[in-house]
Amino acid sequence: MHSFHYHKGQLRCEGVDLSALAAEHGTPLYVYSAQTIQDHFRRLDAALAGLDHLICYAVKANSTLAVLDLLGRERAGFDIVSAGELYRVLHAGGRPECCTFAGVGKTREEIEYALRKEVLSFNVESEAELEMINAVAGESGRRAPVALRINPDVAAGGHKYISTGKSENKFGIGIDRALEVYAAASKMPHLRLRGVQMHIGSQITEAGPFARAVAKVAPVAAELKREYGIEFFSVGGGLGIVYKSSLESGQEAWWQHGDNTPSPSLTVEEYAAAIVPALKPLGLRILLEPGRFLVGNAGVLLSTVQYLKTTASGKKFVIVDAGMNDLIRPALYEGYHEIVPVREPSPTDRREAADVVGPVCESGDFFAQARELPPLRQGELIALMSAGAYGFAMASNYNSRPLAAEVMVSGKTAHVVRERQTLRDLIRGEHRVEEAAVAH
Ligand SMILES: *Cc1c(COP(=O)(O)O)cnc(C)c1O
Repeated sequence: MHSFHYHKGQLRCEGVDLSALAAEHGTPLYVYSAQTIQDHFRRLDAALAGLDHLICYAVKANSTLAVLDLLGRERAGFDIVSAGELYRVLHAGGRPECCTFAGVGKTREEIEYALRKEVLSFNVESEAELEMINAVAGESGRRAPVALRINPDVAAGGHKYISTGKSENKFGIGIDRALEVYAAASKMPHLRLRGVQMHIGSQITEAGPFARAVAKVAPVAAELKREYGIEFFSVGGGLGIVYKSSLESGQEAWWQHGDNTPSPSLTVEEYAAAIVPALKPLGLRILLEPGRFLVGNAGVLLSTVQYLKTTASGKKFVIVDAGMNDLIRPALYEGYHEIVPVREPSPTDRREAADVVGPVCESGDFFAQARELPPLRQGELIALMSAGAYGFAMASNYNSRPLAAEVMVSGKTAHVVRERQTLRDLIRGEHRVEEAAVAH
């Protein structure tokens, strides 16, 4: 599958030149490939064909309406973590009965809203939350469908901030206490025990942690089915993607091959092979909550080189017009994004180490440090690859920078799916204190 590749010396998304998109819509600009999202969804779906399953896309990875709409058309369910995400999913035409509501801090208002919309399940992370959901359901004369998130105490994930399945994390209920908490939940009159859930971390690129976690939770799931008639087991998300190709060593990048391999060490087939054998005998519906895997490789962030700067010590900086407010992964958890010029570099170009940094007034505002890059000129366009997940979704207005625009490409056509914020948008809803009030 060819979603991002050079064609006649220009980087393209599907059939559209990225330089043309930048000229028309400006930078920084997020560009997504619809085909890549569809392809990743379908490949994961196909790998699990032997299981009764539902893929609930983890909305937090990219909650743009057009992305939700696209996945909704694929018949995806959705894993949400706030009332706002549920609102977005419903607005995009998603089915509430295919939504699971996760997160450690659901408020009373969020619980009321999700109950009213009749979501598939609340994935519950503590006993205090169980009691809150029971109380809110009682007040509104409903029974709340719940699943408990079990923390299997398995180490996984690419960075300490994205590992969630160890016992010292804030997430879930310890596996040793699971049956006890289910017993307590079963006595709460306004709850319906519908499932069990786990999620061990993010950007996991080997099968082992998934297999170990499923092996630990499967016997508990079987027991819960016998005891309480639960219907589903959600195995969470976390499937990693390729961020780092072999470009720096002079070889071609994964996306130049048009090969959207999910990760160098883990394919969807290997992932399925690691978990399906332990899941199938349970006779439960299996839910999956992939986020990054479905959208990560499907997006790039286009940016323009503003200035080149060499310090007295000879250190080189490439200053670009995207900042940590547009893409915070490098600053937040040392996330790696491949950086390539939109105009195809010549293989004979000498590469030089430089820091690629944004305009935000923070030392953490960098996209790459000491990265070997082909020569870049002022005004040149670059692409930060694999920025589709936890990119725009984490963007902010820090430094009063308007949010970037987003474009979805499908074949030869490009659609603006989010307009660039204007300066006016930046102050919307703000009020100065009236002079009279200040005087007192
Ligand atoms: C973040 C999250 C996911 C998605 O994680 P990815 O690594 O993007 O697949 C799934 N489930 C839960 C509960 C999460 O918190």
